[in-house]
Amino acid sequence: MALTIQNLSKTYPNGTQALKSVSLTIPNGMFGLLGPNGAGKSSLMRTLATLQDADTGHVQLDGLDVLRDKEAVRRVLGYLPQEFGVYPNVSAEELLDHFAILKGVGNGRERKEMVAALLHQTNLYEVRKKYVGGYSGGMKQRFGIAQALLGNPRLLIVDEPTAGLDPAERNRFHNLLSELGENLVVILSTHIVGDVADLCRSMAIINKGEVLLTGDPLTVMHNLTGQVWRKLVEKAELPALQASQQVISSRLFAGKLVVHVLADAAPDGSYEAVRPDLEDVYFAEIARYQARPQLA
Ligand code: ADP
Repeated sequence: MALTIQNLSKTYPNGTQALKSVSLTIPNGMFGLLGPNGAGKSSLMRTLATLQDADTGHVQLDGLDVLRDKEAVRRVLGYLPQEFGVYPNVSAEELLDHFAILKGVGNGRERKEMVAALLHQTNLYEVRKKYVGGYSGGMKQRFGIAQALLGNPRLLIVDEPTAGLDPAERNRFHNLLSELGENLVVILSTHIVGDVADLCRSMAIINKGEVLLTGDPLTVMHNLTGQVWRKLVEKAELPALQASQQVISSRLFAGKLVVHVLADAAPDGSYEAVRPDLEDVYFAEIARYQARPQLA
């Protein structure tokens, strides 16, 4: 099973080009779509979820033409949007049953079993009688996954799921997602590098509607070896350093700044080699994009 996206482009009526000829091959398992705010992630997710049309391009899920066979795609799709927003004073069990009816899931008994199984899977069974409106952020997100999994989807799209979760909730949510990735295509869209590093076997970085890099996290980190250098500087030294080097990140450490610089060799003896992590890869790609001569 795989999702193939070819040359997908989208310009909104106000002239914003949100997707610029995006091509991606997304295999079974967890795929991380990483990019800053405004990169085009939600535009891509909404297009794949058949909620908005692209201007040009093709998308195939196995034999399905995703942009044309919308009804067929909806039957095999689970979607957790960025703003799920449906948290009424109804119990999780009742609400999930209601969504199951809307999705056309089987007869009463089959539905009941599916709802119970999903509540167990998302660790909400104990609190199934409580109102979803009173759930914590993490519980709401797990409920969102439960509704997205109704009807056994083959493609699961999860848009910015961990924003606003505390570390324990995020961890639990990660465990849930990683269990799902075995038999279906799961696309996790996020601006949080750690989500992709923890969960995904393949990934893409997008910025301003363009795919900058694709690959598996271990390989892309390895490919950057020898190009990232670290130095500890005073805060006041940063502007001069930014003017002379390609600074990809700076982070406070004990009142000073740890600066990471992109260069083919150590700029001078004061730099130490860094073993690149996924954050280095991400910031290096964004920095390379910004350093590119911009076409008018
Ligand atoms: P992301 O999900 O990565 O933050 P989006 O897909 O939401 O990115 O946005 C990509 C670009 O398209 C941004 O410049 C955003 O302002 C713009 N955009 C998104 N939705 C609309 C819309 N409905 N109308 C006009 N512009 C939009």
